[in-house]
Amino acid sequence: MGPFFIKNFTLEQLEQWVHALGEKPFRARQLFRHLYARNISSWSQCSDLSRAFRAQLECSATPDALAISRIDEAPDGTRKYLFRLHDGNFIESVIIPDPPRCTLCVSSQVGCALGCKFCLTGSIGLKRNLETAEIVDQVCQGLRDPELGPRINSLVLMGMGEPLANYDEVVRAIHIITNPNGLMFSHRRVTLSTVGLVPQLRRLGVETPVNLAISIHAADDKLRDELMPVNRTYPLSEIMRACREYPLPPRKRITFEYILLDGVNDSPRQAKQLVRLLEGVRAKVNLIAFNSHPGSHFRTPPMERILGFQDVLRKANLAAIIRKSRGNEISAACGQLGAKTQVENG
Ligand code: SF4
Repeated sequence: MGPFFIKNFTLEQLEQWVHALGEKPFRARQLFRHLYARNISSWSQCSDLSRAFRAQLECSATPDALAISRIDEAPDGTRKYLFRLHDGNFIESVIIPDPPRCTLCVSSQVGCALGCKFCLTGSIGLKRNLETAEIVDQVCQGLRDPELGPRINSLVLMGMGEPLANYDEVVRAIHIITNPNGLMFSHRRVTLSTVGLVPQLRRLGVETPVNLAISIHAADDKLRDELMPVNRTYPLSEIMRACREYPLPPRKRITFEYILLDGVNDSPRQAKQLVRLLEGVRAKVNLIAFNSHPGSHFRTPPMERILGFQDVLRKANLAAIIRKSRGNEISAACGQLGAKTQVENG
């Protein structure tokens, strides 16, 4: 059995745990504030707890679930954290400063089972799901970054893994991260990105109002089957039906992520297909040029092709933004997480 992580508990579960230890109920709120509002890394920082209770905490639970193994910084200021897990596995989180935004990209699994063809994380395969504490602690430790931590104002569940394949741990982590007594992230500042696991997608809309991003990457099933094998289980028609029925709060839109692969999915005809696919959905599109790297046969499209794709979407009144690729030099860009870790440590 692995170690016991106190950050696996929501506030309500912490209250039950504290009660079972024979402590007063207010102790749970006190602990929650220490863990998140104060973001402590050691129980010795909690001087208002009785010595006996602190001693009990010392021998039963650690505040942190992750150990920092390395921090890399790219010339554009993007900072990648490599965390060591208690079982010797590694995960990565990335802080991306892009004023006025500063985004922390969080992992949800060690590796990923879904094997999207353009994704290095997918080439690792799935090693295991992360526990709630291991997800929440990426946020706590990111916030402790002396330079970028205080500037982090948005979170994306877009790192290693498919968040909806680890549904319960991820949703519990979201409840903790957005709790007003703790880290206080507004739901509006949290985005979950998924390939579209339809049953979990339907639950998500009911259980938490975070922003939703769908990794779409192709607008026809034949190509999407090839690029993303999960499409054979949940084809585009099912994903789009779930999106149309998604209980979106007023004025919110679903973001569709589209990685442009040179000569594969970047033609004007495919842009028109995407327009048709998104009809009837409150949608915006993020266009991301693929980052060429050794080990992948996909290439970055030339800029005129990217602009041409965007132009087709815009002419159809679809909001389409070309996202800058960040952190290429440290393998922190979209779809690059984890694989280098494997080479270096495995
Ligand atoms: S793109 Fe996402 S879902 Fe696909 S293999 Fe990579 S991590 Fe998994």
